[in-house]
Parts: sequence; structure tokens; C-alpha cells
Amino acid sequence: MTAQVIDGKAFSARVRAEVATHVARLKEEHGITPGLAVVLVGEDPASQVYVRSKGKQTVEAGMNSYEHKRDAAISHDELLALVEELNTDPAVHGILVQLPLPDHIDADLVINAINPDKDVDGFHVSNVGLLGTGQKSMVPCTPLGCLMMLRDHHGSLSGLEAVVVGRSNIVGKPMAQLLLGDSCTVTVAHSRTRDIEAVVRRADIVVAAVGRPEMVTGAWIKPGATVIDVGINRVPAPEKGTNDDGSVKTRLVGDCHYDSCAAVAGAITPVPGGVGPMTIACLLANTLTACCRANGLEAPEGLTA
Ligand code: NDP
Repeated sequence: MTAQVIDGKAFSARVRAEVATHVARLKEEHGITPGLAVVLVGEDPASQVYVRSKGKQTVEAGMNSYEHKRDAAISHDELLALVEELNTDPAVHGILVQLPLPDHIDADLVINAINPDKDVDGFHVSNVGLLGTGQKSMVPCTPLGCLMMLRDHHGSLSGLEAVVVGRSNIVGKPMAQLLLGDSCTVTVAHSRTRDIEAVVRRADIVVAAVGRPEMVTGAWIKPGATVIDVGINRVPAPEKGTNDDGSVKTRLVGDCHYDSCAAVAGAITPVPGGVGPMTIACLLANTLTACCRANGLEAPEGLTA
């Protein structure tokens, strides 16, 4: 069997177009423009790339984008004051504090200072609790993107056996909650799981969010299963040659060994071009959702969990 490729790039373009249509309608019918504020602390190069990309796509969807860059030496109080300012700014409907934060900042404290209604990352403890109890919440973007792709591919997920590999607060745990919400039978595997291959082999749906390059191989996959690869790992690619500074070039791989998994799976997301593009699309969707709710309007169906 050769797996069907779930094209996250094309899917995310559809989601962004849908968001843009709703944003245009919000402006026209209600005179409201959704606004997303992104806070970037320090000079982490990967974070800078993400923030630029978020800002660009926010504007392309017709929303306002506000970037707040702060020096890595910012104090706790200064950062909390900025968050409070954004909490009370009526033009800001979504707030995202880019992680990781410098070591001297308590990230949990900062995230929990965000107004939960504006917490478009869905990391605030109130949103985590709402999701866990099946109530309306802001849902973390990466698992939301995975869920959208799974629903699109399968229709109903009810009764399917799902194994999530990884139990982080930002991907593994909320992914498990979302799959449970869609009536899957969910197992969460992690670094202490015994005979993880056998556990994964039970799954109709495998979501790998581990951060270990190509750890999940085709031998772990039940024939016909759907494989969602969240991992983004940069590995040396000597076959691509060297950079100007003499260092070996790199390439991106997922947490799944693509070729061997694709030979067994029924469907699979590639890396790059799978889950990654969906994450920013879902950030835009969450900003639209937050804006609608803030104005007493129904959030568009299909863009939320
Ligand atoms: P974390 O490091 O926070 O969590 C990794 C999880 O994997 C942990 O629960 C850990 O288990 C588990 N794990 C580690 N090693 C093993 C192993 N050998 N066997 C089984 N489980 C293992 O990572 P994140 O959840 O933040 O990210 C996971 C991956 O997803 C990364 O590659 C990251 O880059 C990518 N990512 C991609 C995004 C996207 O937009 N596509 C967004 C966010 C993340 P334990 O808890 O026992 O230590």
C-alpha cells in the first residue's frame, strides 16, 4: 500500500481563505477587524522566523497584526504590564506570547496572565480546564490543525483507536483531549511506555509529537492507519553539501520515518508541508473565533473544535 498524502499546505490555504472570507464579512457587516498581538522576547532565530510568518499571514487574512518585540533582559513586571495592556486593548482580540521565553521569566505565570478569552494559543490553565471538561475553549493551534485534517480525511472519528506519542502540554495532551472529544479510544504513549511499538501498532490513528527524528517506522504502523507527524527536526544532510561557513547543510524530517510509514499507512502527513502550515492557519482561525466571541457573535463552524 502507498499512503495517501494529506497535504497540509493545500489544506491550510483553504483554512486561511475561509478565515479571510469571514474577516471580510465581519468588517462589512459589523465594522470589526480582528487583531492579533504577538509578543516576542529576545533574539531566538527560529522564533523570529515564526513571528514574521505569523504577522504576514495575519495581514493577508485581512486582520490587524501587532508585534511587540522586547529585549531578552525584560523584567517579569515589564512583561506582565505589557500583557495587561494587551488584555485591556479593545483592538486586540488575540494575544500570543512566543515561546520559549528567557530562563529568568516564569512562562506559566506570563501565559496565565493573558485574558483567557484572548489566549489564542490555548495554553492558559482556564482553557486547558475547559478543553478537558468538554466546554467551549480556545484550543491549542497544532492539535487543532491535526484534528481538522483528521476530520477532513475520515469524516467521523468515532470509535477509532488513536495513539498519541508524546504527552507535552502544547501538543500531546490537548491532542488526546480533542480525539477523546471526537469519541476515539485514546492511548497516550511517552518515554516510559513499555513496548511502544506494539501500542502504536494498535492504532487506526497515530499522532507523533516526540521531537525524535524518524523514530516511528513503518514496522510500528498498522496497515491502512492514518499517520499525523507533528515532529519538526533538523538533521544533517551531507548529500546537500556544505554552507559558506563550511558547516554541513541540513534538512527537515518528522518524528516518523516517512518512506517506511508511507509504505504501510493509509494516509500520512509529510514534513515539511503537513502539520506545520496548519498551525499558523489555526492561529488565524482562533483569532477570528476570539473576535467573534468578544463581540457576542457565533464563531464560524468548522474553524473551531
Ligand atoms: P516535548 O519535548 O515537550 O515533548 C516530547 C514528548 O515526547 C514527551 O512527552 C516525551 O515523553 C516524549 N518522548 C520523548 N522521547 C520519547 C521516546 N523515545 N519514546 C516515546 N516518547 C518519547 O515536545 P513537543 O510536544 O513540544 O514537540 C514535539 C515535536 O513536535 C517536536 O519535534 C516539535 O518541534 C514539534 N512541534 C511541531 C509543531 C508544528 O507546528 N508542526 C508545533 C509544536 C511542536 P516524556 O514526557 O516521558 O518525557
